[in-house]
Amino acid sequence: MPRIDLHTHSSVSDGTESPAELVSAAVTAELDVVALTDHDSTAGWGEAFEAARGTGLTVLPGIELSTQLDYASVHILGYLVDPADASLVAVTERIRAERLHRAEAMVERISADYALDWEDVLAQTTPGATVGRPHIADALVARGHVPDRSAAFQSILHWRGGYYRPHKAPLPVDGVRVIAEAGGVAVIAHPGGRGPDRLLTDTRVRTLVDAGLFGLEVEHRDNPASTHERWVDLATRFGLVMTGASDYHGSGKPNRLGENLTSPEAYAAILARGSGSAPFAG
Ligand code: AMP
Ligand code: FE
Ligand code: FE
Ligand code: ZN
Repeated sequence: MPRIDLHTHSSVSDGTESPAELVSAAVTAELDVVALTDHDSTAGWGEAFEAARGTGLTVLPGIELSTQLDYASVHILGYLVDPADASLVAVTERIRAERLHRAEAMVERISADYALDWEDVLAQTTPGATVGRPHIADALVARGHVPDRSAAFQSILHWRGGYYRPHKAPLPVDGVRVIAEAGGVAVIAHPGGRGPDRLLTDTRVRTLVDAGLFGLEVEHRDNPASTHERWVDLATRFGLVMTGASDYHGSGKPNRLGENLTSPEAYAAILARGSGSAPFAG
């Protein structure tokens, strides 16, 4: 049975390993296919492809697009997009700029109560990376305010922690459309991981399907067990492909490579649908 993990992050966004290190971790984890899905960036693809050469690992190029609905963030995975597509480039550049702006605003708020400045965050961020709370978390760890990323997320960086700021992002329907128009395959990431379950109502999912939605990430540690049946039911009724993945972020999160997998049938359907780029068979 091939081991296919379709959601991971490198230091091009908020993972702790470079794309090459991530590929080597995927080889060690005996994966057959790994998708690199950095937040709002495709900048890690080339390095991942190079690192996979000769290893037998296939790298599926992807992205995890940040979108927003009712003040909740909804993440849309986009596999096999054309990384040079003008709309995709414009949208991701805008989101990255909004994320930067929002991170600066959060640091400003935090610095009223904790010794922390923007330089601390920059020191934890690879140049050009998509900036997120994980980089602020690493800066808080470096300053000794919290023991690790997870502790930072549970306290200072929690959305109810008093310092949280949202960042502007497109609507999910626009995110799905941009991915589909860039030749990509759109899959809602961890549908049960954020916000109330009623966020993704039947009506809303119908709208997303009409915009080109192809799948749902049903197997993911952030989907509460109590919602599993709902995702399977939704996927079945709307003809959506069901995927599973780890959402590996290196050492910054407990998620382990291969902890959830995608079936070969679902993977084949994604390959058949995507036309904006191609997987790299190393
Ligand atoms: P942001 O998108 O900036 O609001 O930050 C949320 C991101 O932090 C998500 O992509 C999470 O996957 C990521 N993250 C990384 N490490 C952790 C952690 N230890 N706990 C919670 N979220 C984390
Ligand atoms: Fe992340
Ligand atoms: Fe996500
Ligand atoms: Zn992710």
